[in-house]
Amino acid sequence: MNTSNTDLIVVGAGIVGLAHAFEAHRRGYTVRIIERDARPNGASIRNFGHCCITAQDGGLLDTAYRSREGWLAAAKSVGFWAPEAGAYVVARSAAEQRVLDELNSKRGNDAVQLLTAGELRSVLGGNPDPAIVGGAHLPADLRVDPRTTAGEIAGWLQDQAGVEIEWNTSVRDIRDGTVSTSRGDFQAQKVLVCVGHDMDYLFPELAARYQVQRCALQMALAPAPAGYSLDAAVLTGTSMTRYDGFTAMPGAEAVRREIYGHSPELIDMVANVMFTRRPDGSLILGDSHVYGQTIGPFQDEWWTSRLVDEIARILGTKLQVTQRWQGVYASSPLTSLLVEDVDPRTKVVTVTSGIGMTMSFGIAAETVDSL
Ligand SMILES: Cc1cc2nc3c(=O)[nH]c(=O)nc-3n(C[C@H](O)[C@H](O)[C@H](O)COP(=O)(O)OP(=O)(O)OC[C@H]3O[C@@H](n4cnc5c(N)ncnc54)[C@H](O)[C@@H]3O)c2cc1C
Repeated sequence: MNTSNTDLIVVGAGIVGLAHAFEAHRRGYTVRIIERDARPNGASIRNFGHCCITAQDGGLLDTAYRSREGWLAAAKSVGFWAPEAGAYVVARSAAEQRVLDELNSKRGNDAVQLLTAGELRSVLGGNPDPAIVGGAHLPADLRVDPRTTAGEIAGWLQDQAGVEIEWNTSVRDIRDGTVSTSRGDFQAQKVLVCVGHDMDYLFPELAARYQVQRCALQMALAPAPAGYSLDAAVLTGTSMTRYDGFTAMPGAEAVRREIYGHSPELIDMVANVMFTRRPDGSLILGDSHVYGQTIGPFQDEWWTSRLVDEIARILGTKLQVTQRWQGVYASSPLTSLLVEDVDPRTKVVTVTSGIGMTMSFGIAAETVDSL
């Protein structure tokens, strides 16, 4: 590929950058991806691999459905694991069930399928929490394996004519189509900057304007209980305090108050108690949230234990943690999606809430349409 004639440079090989490269490639653009690491290693490999389509709201819901199409198209081309398994939401109180009922009334039975306690218990298998009163299935949600998917997409893109990836290449400055890196300058007609929370290193004024911070999450991995084979994500009452689709429901505030009443520590650690199963049979367990411009590396063991205990209670079994890790994503109190032209050739695309896996292919399709 001629270095000076690339249509598009994408900075960052996380899921947001890779989705943009995929969408650009399928529209016939030549693409150069520039990534400072040797492989994807950021938020995109540390998450739940849950494309949380149904629980988005407003304009983001339309983008999420578009993203779903993009994810499925990418899975077909690349061949990665992406079951259309949906998500289950566990309700363990009348207040939680009310939020699901409200979402069902708003979205209809195709999008939000209400379940009895017995139905949900049999989906979970084993001997789940007797406190379960019901729940819902959200069939549009998708699952991917976070640890392998970005790498598989990158590997596939690298094999395509018209796509190059520069690994171990750190971008230092971007101006009017020239990208200055630790390995020299690259030119393109357009540059998309998809570096996640590190956008503040390259564009501090833009980050300050949107009050972009880092959000750190504590996560754990454990072997799934014997017989547990659900590909779907499993969300809980705390999830109803996090995702816009739930928080837009009239009953959401009562759920938050109720959880604060019996488990204030979950609200204090901004928990979203949820879990997903990887294809190898391990369960990804999480999560807590802490915000700051610089995130300390020290994880509070009590927080992770509390989250794991809560999930063990839901499944009615012990969970033996085998790995723990911290993931970081960009967060802004002003927007969930920061898309801004910093010069006529350079666009910054950062998902500024914890929905970057969900939204990546939808945002990418919209961005590439606008080039
Ligand atoms: C623990 C956790 C759980 C989550 N769960 C979910 C979930 O289930 N569903 C969901 O939708 N979202 C989830 N999210 C959010 C989602 O993971 C992120 O929004 C998404 O991965 C962001 O993708 P990205 O490509 O912008 O960032 P990243 O994956 O962090 O990629 C950014 C890339 O840019 C590179 N880079 C940075 N600076 C430079 C530079 N100067 N030069 C070259 N390269 C650079 C980095 O090395 C990195 O590879 C979760 C996040 C975390 C942390």
